Amino acid sequence: MDIFALYPTSPGYDFITEDTYFQKTQRRFPWATHTKSLPKSPLYLATCPECKNAIEIRELDRVRGENERAPMEPFGKHYQHNVPGLDIIYDQAKYDNCSLRAKVSLSSSEPRLSQAFNDEVLKLLVNEAAVVREVLATTVGIGFGDRLFESMLKTFIEQGRYRCKGVMPSNLPFALLYWTESQWITGQYISSEKHVEMECAIENSLHFCMSGRQISSKHWRDKQSAAARDKTPLPSRPDWGPHRLAFFMGKRVVRGDERKGEKNHMTLTLTEHTNNKPTGNPIYKKKISYSNNHFPNAIRAFERRMSKPEEAAETLAKRIRAGKLAYSYAKHLLPDTWRPNWEDEEGARLDAS
Ligand SMILES: [Zn+2]
Repeated sequence: MDIFALYPTSPGYDFITEDTYFQKTQRRFPWATHTKSLPKSPLYLATCPECKNAIEIRELDRVRGENERAPMEPFGKHYQHNVPGLDIIYDQAKYDNCSLRAKVSLSSSEPRLSQAFNDEVLKLLVNEAAVVREVLATTVGIGFGDRLFESMLKTFIEQGRYRCKGVMPSNLPFALLYWTESQWITGQYISSEKHVEMECAIENSLHFCMSGRQISSKHWRDKQSAAARDKTPLPSRPDWGPHRLAFFMGKRVVRGDERKGEKNHMTLTLTEHTNNKPTGNPIYKKKISYSNNHFPNAIRAFERRMSKPEEAAETLAKRIRAGKLAYSYAKHLLPDTWRPNWEDEEGARLDAS
């Protein structure tokens, strides 16, 4: 697993990194201890944020560069023993139901039983919606404008997909992408110049084209040319015409072996739907690869931008804008006392203006 808590009573969780673990535990007992068996070797313990059994953090404190092997990222594994120092009595039934235990596929629709942990996933989505959106924009190549992003959030939350066992804090952006039904993307912007292949596929389609970075339709382009030629006004909103361009995710998600540093991947397909037909013609496929620390790293990078004076205001505005989209669907599902982490900052910003 990629997350840990200090005690069974600790609220929430932290993503596992060497820095975070050693900072939180200060390398002290009862977390930093040693094995009972001889020769004694270091043992780093913590608590599973879901089932509250103990976990062992592996791959900490190793000699780096041994055999020129890249260091593995630390990860957590259940420690199936009592740990009196942490007030943990091993609970087999809770371990059996824990979604952080086995290699559960992101494609599993089996629900997680722990309501408290489902809430944690939803809270993370509300707090970090802007990071989720940015991670998707860079990996997929589509900008995910407000309307598209909101439609994805709505499906994900209202259909209870955030409660699926394979949906973890660490894979949240990719889980949102995976559990989204086919979505229309005409009018969206390609996120950067790195996605030329997608732009070419759209240019080569029957009914669609690029207008700068925006995905446009040939129908609308013809209307624009006609209006320019005849000097007639254009409608205020683009008329994309009768055809639709969509994306959907393939059913299969390949889970890479964390210990070998392998990435997970799934496949995105763009489909062209002539006259809005339900079945479309595939025009482009893209492998979406991600490691389990991609999203946690992106959250940390976002935090760093929040703390830079020249970027703080814009970054906060993004956080609030995306967070509100998620919160509008999540609020009634979360405890009344819970508040998004951007709410106070939003209040301060409103007071200042
Ligand atoms: Zn567990």
